[in-house]
Amino acid sequence: MNRPYQLPDHSAERNRLGSVLRKDYAMNEDLRYLGLGKKYYIRTYGCQANVRDSETLSGMFERMGFLEANTIEEADVALFNTCAVRRAAEEHVLGEIGSLKPLKQKHPEKIFALCGCMAQEEEMVSRIAKQYRQIDLLFGTHNLWRFPELLEEAMNGRRTIEVESQGTGSVVEGMPVKRSRSHKAFINIMYGCDKFCTYCIVPYTRGKERSREAEYIIREINEVKALGAKEVTLLGQNVNAYGKDLGEKDGFTKLLRAAAETGIERIRFYTSHPRDYSETTIDAMREYQNIMPSLHLPVQSGSDEILKKMNRGYTIGRFYELYERMKEKIPGITFTTDLIVGFPTETNEQFEETLKLADTCRFDSAFTFVYSPREGTPAANMEDDISPKEKKERLAVLNERIGKYARMNNEAALGKTLKVLCDGPSRKNPSVLAGYSEENRLVNFTGEGIREGDIVDVKITDAKSFSLDGEAVTSSK
Ligand code: SF4
Repeated sequence: MNRPYQLPDHSAERNRLGSVLRKDYAMNEDLRYLGLGKKYYIRTYGCQANVRDSETLSGMFERMGFLEANTIEEADVALFNTCAVRRAAEEHVLGEIGSLKPLKQKHPEKIFALCGCMAQEEEMVSRIAKQYRQIDLLFGTHNLWRFPELLEEAMNGRRTIEVESQGTGSVVEGMPVKRSRSHKAFINIMYGCDKFCTYCIVPYTRGKERSREAEYIIREINEVKALGAKEVTLLGQNVNAYGKDLGEKDGFTKLLRAAAETGIERIRFYTSHPRDYSETTIDAMREYQNIMPSLHLPVQSGSDEILKKMNRGYTIGRFYELYERMKEKIPGITFTTDLIVGFPTETNEQFEETLKLADTCRFDSAFTFVYSPREGTPAANMEDDISPKEKKERLAVLNERIGKYARMNNEAALGKTLKVLCDGPSRKNPSVLAGYSEENRLVNFTGEGIREGDIVDVKITDAKSFSLDGEAVTSSK
């Protein structure tokens, strides 16, 4: 049986109609036993926001009595928490859910669910609803807090698709959480994005910018700190706009200062936007030793013309100004960025401007992408006039340039001693430990008696493009 459903409406989301729902979370008592004797499995794609959402979904599953399964086959409920930023990632998810069909035929009692940004896209929801009948439950980002009741419907045999269309979203406090690690925690400070960069689907899938009240955020930091966390990452699509929707002036800097005052050992924040980055935030980073000296500041292009077509809301001059101010005020700060090549109409000269930017800023690392259109965004209506071959060549040139500076910057750390927060054995080579320095450099190192969550002095003995090797000198734990 199908429950009637609506499709997401991107034009309504652009208009930002309706108000934000703010409430405290409460789970219906009857749902506490829904998962007794059953197992769940979550597969997460995309950014830290999704990782954090999956921690909430795990928390909900466990509050309903489910236990975690190691594989989809073993699970009674399997949930795909998806990302819509790139087409290729979406195709991958479609391939995965497509391959569930035989399992569903063999075990019709199993529930397959899909959530995240793909579940908030007009075209995609319609396609999944019609062509992927093995999906029993689909819910968008605005309905995360309703997951237990929606799951109950699906388990009772009603195919359930729940997608709010106003694009205003919710801020729900007190949802359960099962954190994936105890020494590092992601803390949402806000949801959604109002920037509408022309290539990006996120403002349509995650709704309008809405901040959590500072009091709840600080309480969450204190809670994870009491449970042993050494590092928190404050999360939002555009953290520098924190508090604007609450009528707060300079809200992000005030929050950052309050977070630093909790005394937690390390604070990071992600993602920043050059348009909203304030001078006071730079001052707070300089003032507090527990705000880490590293910044991911996506610039996207070195050309003013292209930045304008992307609707980024700043000039390259403004970016250089911010960059220089931070380098000057925060000794040893490291910079990473995002860059897109082959945006519609990008000329060779404009691409050269991006290379010039890389030469000037000598980023410690960068996520580089070839432009690909996302349906439903304004850029998808622009002529995608750069050939795939040209895009690929530009990407290779840019990657080579980024790699060169990343290696140079890492080599400058040779012989130095860095403070590294140990994440446990390296995933690539479990015979060594891995962790991140204060400057967010990945360090693989050797040492005795060191555990996950220890902060260790590591002497750097070798440098590669995207990691360092070293030996532990002391452990400050
Ligand atoms: S700032 Fe731009 S790129 Fe980032 S989420 Fe918002 S619209 Fe997308």
